[in-house]
Amino acid sequence: MQTLVTDRPEEAARHLNRGETVAFPTETVYGLGADAFNPEAVAGIFRAKGRPSDNPLIVHVASPGKVGEVASEIGENARRLIECFFPGPLTIVLKKRDTVPEIVSAGLPTVGVRCPAHPQAAEFLRHCKHPVAAPSANVSGRPSPTDWKTVYHDLGGRIGCLLRGEPSTIGLESTIVDCSVEPPRLLRTGAVSVEALRELVPDIQVATTCKPGEAPKSPGQKYRHYSPEAEIVLVETPPPSLPADPPAAWIGLSTPPAGAAKSLHCRDMDEYARVLFGFFRTCDAEGIRTIHCELPPEEGIGRAIRDRLVKAAGRG
Ligand code: AMP
Ligand code: MG
Repeated sequence: MQTLVTDRPEEAARHLNRGETVAFPTETVYGLGADAFNPEAVAGIFRAKGRPSDNPLIVHVASPGKVGEVASEIGENARRLIECFFPGPLTIVLKKRDTVPEIVSAGLPTVGVRCPAHPQAAEFLRHCKHPVAAPSANVSGRPSPTDWKTVYHDLGGRIGCLLRGEPSTIGLESTIVDCSVEPPRLLRTGAVSVEALRELVPDIQVATTCKPGEAPKSPGQKYRHYSPEAEIVLVETPPPSLPADPPAAWIGLSTPPAGAAKSLHCRDMDEYARVLFGFFRTCDAEGIRTIHCELPPEEGIGRAIRDRLVKAAGRG
């Protein structure tokens, strides 16, 4: 398959409306989209990524007013979250309409809905005839892509079109809140923080693990995610030095230890989130065998960074 690379949202939408898979930028990470109401097109996403079919997809809408195109019930909590955080880096799980095919929801009676704030994504979605089902635009199991070249590296030749944009400004996948249950449950941490959610929904449950045999409600709950090939070592405080051989890398908020073959000193947690997945990929490309990652404070986006680090280390 030839992958067309374009800067024009309208052209990318034409490909999607024809039933092709289209990668596009969002503020969280790049997504790989297909027409959510066309099950054959959606099957193309699973093929291109090598994604397990029991992992549901998030449906993206052009504006907050379109949530009702895929959700059959929007309760009071969901309404409040939509009003405050849409468009933005938040996904809400709601009871689905019958028009949402099973392949999108992985057989669940619910659907995850998000309205991205990214201007190019918004324009692309406006030109799509239907809502767009889209997981992250990476080969399944690898870290989510935060720039178009990484998408091309993973999926070039396997998808119809790639809408080229700037690197994602957040760099971590969306926060997911399940509003189909009472009280609502946090399924995945992201840039919309637990603290911000609690201001609107004080009794929100923070769930972390999925019981054996239970269908996955969120990606990180069943599958190993966000993993580079290098071994991840989690660090609370930086050691004075790292061994030079085999080459080891450092990323964190503190000054890098001596001996790091490669290092990234992040100014704040927003920068840490933005550069993390790209750093994992660069380290793999450069043959780094171990990446020492400093755990940030457990507050704001720090919780989401910690979550991705723990999963990358294979402990999640
Ligand atoms: P990804 O972009 O790979 O992180 O995929 C999107 C994730 O959103 C999925 O893996 C799901 O776990 C989550 N999601 C999508 N739809 C639902 C749903 N109906 N219920 C719970 N989680 C969902
Ligand atoms: Mg993903």
